[in-house]
Amino acid sequence: MNTPDRTPVCSPKSLPEEVRIESARTAVEINPANRPYLRPAAAMIGAQSSTKELIAALATKYWRSGGVHLGVRFLDTEDTALRNRILVHMNAWSSGANVKFGLSLGREAEVRIARTPGDGYWSYLGTDILHIPIDQPTMNLDSFSMDTDEREYRRVVRHETGHTLGFPHEHLRREIVGRIHPDKAIRYFRDRSGWSEKTTRAQVLTPLEETALVATPTDTQSIMCYQLPGYIMRDGRAVPGGLDINDQDHHFVRNLYPARLVGSQ
Ligand SMILES: [Zn+2]
Repeated sequence: MNTPDRTPVCSPKSLPEEVRIESARTAVEINPANRPYLRPAAAMIGAQSSTKELIAALATKYWRSGGVHLGVRFLDTEDTALRNRILVHMNAWSSGANVKFGLSLGREAEVRIARTPGDGYWSYLGTDILHIPIDQPTMNLDSFSMDTDEREYRRVVRHETGHTLGFPHEHLRREIVGRIHPDKAIRYFRDRSGWSEKTTRAQVLTPLEETALVATPTDTQSIMCYQLPGYIMRDGRAVPGGLDINDQDHHFVRNLYPARLVGSQ
C-alpha cells in the first residue's frame, strides 16, 4: 500500500518576518486568548534568542469569540454560480456557530480568493489575513471550477476556510508529530510534493504549542488533518486525515465562536 496520494497538499502561508510581531499584536488585540502560552522550556529558549520573535511565533490567530463575520471578494471570477458554490462550502462552518462569510463587492473584503493554477491550496491563518495588502489574495484555490468534484469542495474549500478561521493543521499536534518518522516523511514529501527538507520540517515535523485554546483531544480525522501513510509513521499506523468538517470540528468551532441565543442580536 505504498501508492502515494497525489492530491495537492495544502501549505498554509505565513506572513513575512517583518510583520510577525505586529501580527501577533493584532491577534491579541482581537482576542486576548491568542496571547502566547510559554512553557518553561520555551521561555528558556526565548532568553537565548529573541523573546519577542518567539512570542510572535507562538501567538495563535483566532478571531474574537463573539463571532466571525467576514467579507469575501473573488479576485478572478465574476461567475455567480462558482462564487456561490465556494461560499456555501465556506459557510459549512456556520452550523451552530456564529460564523458568516458574505460576498463583498467592495474593496474592504477581509478574505480575497484567487484560483491561480499551480500555486496550490493555501490560506493565511486567522487574523493574519488583516496584514495582507488589500489587492492580494488571502486564499488560493488553485484550479477550482464548476467542474471540480463536490468531494474536493468539501475537502479543500472547507479546510482552507478553517485556516481563515484561525485553525492550524491538526497533524501538527504533538501527539501526531511524535509518531512521524522524520527521514521517511522528508523523503515522502520530496517525492510527493517536491518539498525541501526545510518545508517538510516546517509543515509536518514542528509541533504546535499546546495552548489552553486548543485543549481538545487530538483528532486524526479532523478536516484540518493531513492524510499520512502508515509507512512514514513510527508505529506503522496511517493517519486517515479529514475529508469534511467532522463532529469534533463542529464542536470546536461552536465553542470558540458560539452562536448567539435565538432572539438576541
Ligand atoms: Zn492546510
